[in-house]
Amino acid sequence: MRSIPTRPITIDHSLLNAPPPRIIRRPEPHDTDMTQPPDARSQDLQLRFLLPDAGVRGVAVHLDDTWAAMTERATYPPAAAELLGEAAAAAALFTGYAKVDGRLSVQLRADGAIRTLFAECTAAGTLRGIVRVSDAVADGRTAPPSRDLRALGDDAVLAITVENPALGNREPMRYQGLVALDAGRLDEAFEGYFRQSEQLPTRLLLACDGRRAAGLMLQKLPGDEGDSDGFLRIGALFDTLASEELLALAPAEVVHRLFHEEQPQLLGEKPLRFACSCSRERVESMLVSLGEPEVQAAVEAGLGEAKIHCEFCGQEYRFDGDAVGILFRDAAAELPAAPGIQ
Ligand SMILES: [Zn+2]
Repeated sequence: MRSIPTRPITIDHSLLNAPPPRIIRRPEPHDTDMTQPPDARSQDLQLRFLLPDAGVRGVAVHLDDTWAAMTERATYPPAAAELLGEAAAAAALFTGYAKVDGRLSVQLRADGAIRTLFAECTAAGTLRGIVRVSDAVADGRTAPPSRDLRALGDDAVLAITVENPALGNREPMRYQGLVALDAGRLDEAFEGYFRQSEQLPTRLLLACDGRRAAGLMLQKLPGDEGDSDGFLRIGALFDTLASEELLALAPAEVVHRLFHEEQPQLLGEKPLRFACSCSRERVESMLVSLGEPEVQAAVEAGLGEAKIHCEFCGQEYRFDGDAVGILFRDAAAELPAAPGIQ
């Protein structure tokens, strides 16, 4: 049986337009277990849940060690690192929603201070990501990037890409959605994207403080499921969540603190970790696509060895002149691939 809320929540339609008023107080949970230190549990998780009365589904993610491993080989300007953390949290959130059995990436390309930002999460729960800033930023000749997406430049493009491998009779599938960059924050931009592309009310909060990253996403279930003001009620509770709280708590604690009176059903928990999908084989096919003259030139420039360095994980792959010769001889013996197939 549902308990009676300690403080009734009334929804005013002005909530839809106005900033969240602080009069909506989140009822305090009666049974919150705050005795267990958060560090006693794995902090790198994706948690899927359902709020059945309101007809809302949700995903919460937290990246701790994963985030540290993603960034330990790079020194990024703080705003670039925070955007990367939020993009990584977003990629982990979206794999909890979309039908992903391969990988999902969030990718940003621009001509300004940030050139490329890439964060990827696989169905297995592994994440990797990088940011490339302009040479002028890297050399300290211009100011570091801003966190405001509208400052990325007119040519900036933000995309969500899902790549699923061939499975049984199914062909490999690649789907890409372009996200409009008319909001200042990444979570606002994604909220708009899901509202428009799926026609479903969506709320999204992403946060990264340089040490960890986290995200919470809520979406109305399709159809008439849930009570009539369910999504507004959940949205009012969602608006009480601050970035600092989202970052400090494990996903299950976030769900419990916000929605304990909604009797949330936990649908599944997936551990997340850093891993890179680079391999010598993949590097070889990349070299073959460059052509032998260019690769042999790289061998000469490298005093007898071409060194290919993976930006995601730091792994180094070395090829001397003989190895390059064998690589291209073997490649020539294979049937040429159909254009566009890799
Ligand atoms: Zn790698």
